[in-house]
Amino acid sequence: MPVGRPAPRTRRLVLATRNPGKVREFRALLRHLPLVLLTLDDFPALPRVDEPGQTFAENAAAKAVTVARLTGTLTLADDSGVEIDALGGAPGVHSATFLGPEATDDDRNAWVLAQLRDVPQQRRTARYRAVVAVATPEGCVRTFEGRWEGCIADAPRGRGGFGYDPIFLVPELGKTVAELPLAEKNRRSHRARALTAARAYLEALLARQEDGDGPGN
Ligand code: IMP
Repeated sequence: MPVGRPAPRTRRLVLATRNPGKVREFRALLRHLPLVLLTLDDFPALPRVDEPGQTFAENAAAKAVTVARLTGTLTLADDSGVEIDALGGAPGVHSATFLGPEATDDDRNAWVLAQLRDVPQQRRTARYRAVVAVATPEGCVRTFEGRWEGCIADAPRGRGGFGYDPIFLVPELGKTVAELPLAEKNRRSHRARALTAARAYLEALLARQEDGDGPGN
């Protein structure tokens, strides 16, 4: 360390989620950045943050701003879901909750397959969408979007991933996302694309912090 240069502060980033599938993906995708990654499990007293918005961007930004303010720490949140064309874009922003709080991923996948029972392959198009929001404790927020086009399979396949991955087919691979290794999912996914866009912004924020110019931590 050159004389006169202050030791870098430990930089922390809160991943504003308790979803273990998302945490696993974010950790892998952010592993090159010099950051200590925390999750909402590190802040058990934080209240649940609602997602009242009508768009992924509204929800991601609201979650990131609230958690950054309450923890006093740079925060990254995402809001994501699947849009199924034959269902008019549903479940969209309601992907996690549309069957109620007790329903499981398997319940939601079975519901989708039942709705699409008579829909032919060429009309089973769908996409994953994710918006990643990065917020500072001071309330500055930016959002970044990623999409992943695919279609809905006839039956669940594979054991990896989470959520709709067993029924989300990647046409060019002939596999569902649940059949892909995590590294392969992370090369292609909606969340990876949103994070790639967010990374340049995060790196600029961290460089500013190194120069003693915020963000607060
Ligand atoms: P939220 O972003 O916490 O509102 O939840 C998004 C929901 O969309 C998840 O609970 C999943 O059901 C679904 N979802 C989002 N991203 C993925 C993914 O990468 N694989 C499978 N399901 C996903």
